Amino acid sequence: MNPSDLPAEADFRAEVADWMARHLAGRFAPLRHRGGPGDETAHAALRREWEQEMAAGGWIGLGWPRAHGGRELPVALQVAFHEEYARAGGPGRIGHIGETLLAPTLIDFGTPEQQQRFLPGIRAGQVVWCQGYSEPGAGSDLAAIRSRCWLDAGEWHLQGQKVWTSLAHESEWIFVLARSTPGSVGRDGLSFLLVPLAQPGVDIRPIRQLTGEAEFNEVFFDDARCAADCVVGAPGDGWKVAMALLGYERGLSTLGQQMHFSHELQLLVDAARASGADRNPGIRRRIADAWIGLRTLRANALRIFAGGDGAAGPEALTYKYAWSNWHRSLGELAMDVMGTAGDLQAHDDPLRRLQQVFFFSRADTIYAGTNEIQLNIIAERGLGMPRG
Ligand SMILES: Cc1cc2nc3c(=O)[nH]c(=O)nc-3n(C[C@H](O)[C@H](O)[C@H](O)COP(=O)(O)OP(=O)(O)OC[C@H]3O[C@@H](n4cnc5c(N)ncnc54)[C@H](O)[C@@H]3O)c2cc1C
Repeated sequence: MNPSDLPAEADFRAEVADWMARHLAGRFAPLRHRGGPGDETAHAALRREWEQEMAAGGWIGLGWPRAHGGRELPVALQVAFHEEYARAGGPGRIGHIGETLLAPTLIDFGTPEQQQRFLPGIRAGQVVWCQGYSEPGAGSDLAAIRSRCWLDAGEWHLQGQKVWTSLAHESEWIFVLARSTPGSVGRDGLSFLLVPLAQPGVDIRPIRQLTGEAEFNEVFFDDARCAADCVVGAPGDGWKVAMALLGYERGLSTLGQQMHFSHELQLLVDAARASGADRNPGIRRRIADAWIGLRTLRANALRIFAGGDGAAGPEALTYKYAWSNWHRSLGELAMDVMGTAGDLQAHDDPLRRLQQVFFFSRADTIYAGTNEIQLNIIAERGLGMPRG
């Protein structure tokens, strides 16, 4: 995109803030600061409508190429959008898996027909997607996948089980990694399928989490079906597609979520002032450290991704490790700031929110690759050390 066509950042921020003030109002007002991690079930139906409101405002697909219905905005303006969105109390997004994971993958690997069929529903905020990678026995070792798929009479058939599938209960479609070459092992012989969830062969069962919410699920496939052309990339070559998507997941896709961290830090500072914990020098130092960490994360996101397409060079390998550990420490600090009040079920909204930060952030260093796996990747791919 020609840089002279881009809005100035200050004008763009003012446009986002103005739109949010006018639209996150009236019937959408209850959504302010709701629905983030640990609060996923809040106002679920209204948050789906909010996706369509966002789409009508042109706020979905900000980084996508224009040729695919996006706005092709540079990372600096995407950061500006997410900061203004968070500042206005924009709710946790239900459509982020489709928008930030599947869409860029389809743009890279999908056929023109797949792009024309699936991108508009995501862009319109109408079709919600979830991710069917993990299985019992295939998490960190994803190549151990045992779900099977086969092509018969013009349809893919799917048999097996996925687990920890975030938002499956809210989704219309799931992208699934399954074994299509009988007898294959490891990364070979896997296919990346696009599967509709509303069919008799699919059973979705919620799993209750530490937060008390059930954001993720088990998904069982018993001869579930999808059309023959719902495979992305060549059959048997799904590992390549799945890894490209993971690159997005460990990269820019969490930008929006991170912009809410400053609101959480502010809640924590307010709680410290209210409880007197801010008189404790140790707590004060940790709050200052958290603030520095947050500024560093922001600067790093701009530095790492500014020139790239969301799945940038080797420094990007550090990104997921850095933000997830920062956030987990923030959760621990929140509990220390709250003291005994944090040990009890909170009815006060800011305290409840801080408790959820603690509970949910335990998961940040697990999903999209655990801490140990991220460090292995940094050592092997980033530093060229031998594979363990
Ligand atoms: C909140 C949340 C949401 C999720 N959402 C989804 C989703 O939508 N879709 C999806 O497909 N999955 C999802 N997941 C699953 C997630 O990707 C897996 O939990 C993750 O990949 C780890 O796999 P596992 O749980 O099987 O743990 P395991 O792989 O069994 O790991 C157990 C422990 O062993 C360590 N370990 C394993 N292998 C190694 C190694 N080679 N070297 C050193 N240490 C190792 C791990 O670091 C970990 O500490 C979600 C998980 C969470 C917590």
